[in-house]
Amino acid sequence: MVKQGLEKIVRTRIPPSPTGQDIHVGNLYTALINFAQAKKNNGKFIVRIEDTDRTRYQEGADIKILESLKKFGIYYDEGPDIGGPFEPYRQSERLPIYKKYADELIEKGIAYYCFCSKERLEELRSNQLKEKKQTKYDKFCLLSVNNPQERIKAGDSYVIRLNVLANKKMWFKDLIRGQITIDSSEIDDQVLLKSDGFPTYHLAVVVDDHIMQISHIIRAEEWISSTPKHVLLYEAFGWEKPVFAHLPILRNPDKSKLSKRKNPVWASWYLEQGFLPEAMLNYLALLGWSHPEEKDIFTLDEFIQLFRLEDVKPVGPIFDITKLTWMNQQYIQNKSDEELKKLLLDFSISAKNMSGETLEKLIPLLKSRMETLSDFEKLAAIFIDQMADIIYDENEKKLVKDLHASLSELKSWKHDIIFESLKEIMLEHKIRMGVLYKIFIGVDRGLPLPETLEILGKAKSLDRLNSIK
Ligand code: GLU
Repeated sequence: MVKQGLEKIVRTRIPPSPTGQDIHVGNLYTALINFAQAKKNNGKFIVRIEDTDRTRYQEGADIKILESLKKFGIYYDEGPDIGGPFEPYRQSERLPIYKKYADELIEKGIAYYCFCSKERLEELRSNQLKEKKQTKYDKFCLLSVNNPQERIKAGDSYVIRLNVLANKKMWFKDLIRGQITIDSSEIDDQVLLKSDGFPTYHLAVVVDDHIMQISHIIRAEEWISSTPKHVLLYEAFGWEKPVFAHLPILRNPDKSKLSKRKNPVWASWYLEQGFLPEAMLNYLALLGWSHPEEKDIFTLDEFIQLFRLEDVKPVGPIFDITKLTWMNQQYIQNKSDEELKKLLLDFSISAKNMSGETLEKLIPLLKSRMETLSDFEKLAAIFIDQMADIIYDENEKKLVKDLHASLSELKSWKHDIIFESLKEIMLEHKIRMGVLYKIFIGVDRGLPLPETLEILGKAKSLDRLNSIK
């Protein structure tokens, strides 16, 4: 491990697998915690792409993951696109390294070649299942193959397996969960190197975390059962073990594991919907951790300062989009007009196409009413000619006529004057403001109508009424 004076340098990492459309929200959470742990300790945060499972590989997913991390403001110090002292940071480009370490384990007698066919392994498994035994490899090749080199020379396909000795008590310390103990008999003779020459996750993750001098392995709870296998490998190589911490898995409001069916799971979806990156990180920070002063809203810097890995609670926190939406609204409200304008111009083509003057006038009205940036299109529909087709009945058509008559008479086009005029019509027709909203904008709520009409201007407001047939 790198030493800085007498102190160890904190180096954390995420090794996302490019097997989906983007980075999963759960992994974004893990990334945030790793990032915070590194920054808090003046350490380094590393991204390494774990693309060793070629069957699940999705073209372009790694680029998307890196892009999303940056969009959320989780900047890494070393990674596939920016390099670093231990490059390459893509596992598929590191195959000779894994082969070398797998060979080292063979030499030490800790790993062995296995030539078993798929059929034999399947039969073994189904027999074990029938006999209600634990399904694991039976060390057949370790016990029966005398000269593996000859078979390899003859071109036989093989994998390399770890020889796990039975009945050994093993343990590791988890910073969030305390000591975890397991009997080695529960561990299978794990495949380390596959027949296609690619390492399995277990070999690659341990080798790279060691070479890249990772000090803290912070990952989701679902990897706890892999950790004893990794501990065996650290011991087999004679390497110092890093600190382990397994974060709780995020859950849907019904407590099931966060899944596509119940919640959008790809991080970029949230940006596309107009959630602000800082609101999302603030929300994620509060899953499994609370601010010492019980604050809901705080900056990323504040989180980095106050956060302690030991304080993360191990129970599955609920990812609730309603709460996230509330938090996003708070962030939007706290923006200055200038900041919000910039955000809208970046987010919405309609905002870009609108006159700067109109947009500036709308912003104070929008600010307290937008939950996400995408609400802009709905709230400002009348300004961007994006109204749903509306069918008006006879009563409404009469109302349109009366509205036209009284609004066209107004000498001054100010919202308080417009309001007086609308009030008269409402009294006369015994209707509420919602009905007038519907006439003008097709829905029964939105920005305050008198202000909206003022900004729209008299001519356009009357045109709008004229267009109703
Ligand atoms: N590829 C795994 C994941 O993305 C890595 C697990 C680990 O951190 O070791 O969840």
